[in-house]
Amino acid sequence: MGFCISCGQQHQDGIRFCRFCGNQQPGEQLLARLRQEAEQIHYLRLQAQALAQQQQLQQQQLQQQQQYSQNQYNQQPRW
Ligand SMILES: [Zn+2]
Repeated sequence: MGFCISCGQQHQDGIRFCRFCGNQQPGEQLLARLRQEAEQIHYLRLQAQALAQQQQLQQQQLQQQQQYSQNQYNQQPRW
């Protein structure tokens, strides 16, 4: 079962025109292309997420290093 891209009515798979509004429905080629695009977008989003996580981790490490060196400084005896 599919849904009309124009009126949203349910109709059988593989039809070329909606029987409710008469609009042309996307063919298999178009559906395949859209699916491919969706996968690409999904993949790009995953990559972006991974990159953002990596940057966050680096920032955390940097902050920890800064805190550590600050602690070292505070622990130094001052005469
Ligand atoms: Zn329709």
